[in-house]
Amino acid sequence: MDQAASGAVGTRAAAVVTLVFGCALVFVVGFAHATTLHNAGHDTRHAMAFPCH
Ligand SMILES: [Zn+2]
Repeated sequence: MDQAASGAVGTRAAAVVTLVFGCALVFVVGFAHATTLHNAGHDTRHAMAFPCH
């Protein structure tokens, strides 16, 4: 395979991997943050004897 073409494919693959990893990281962190906020509000409701479920 041509050295330049091989390098271009490698750079493109690295960019795709970085993009996918970045999106996955943002999604996981965002989800964990939302869960933490939800649990905090949930605990507060129960601490105040607020019927939520
Ligand atoms: Zn509850």
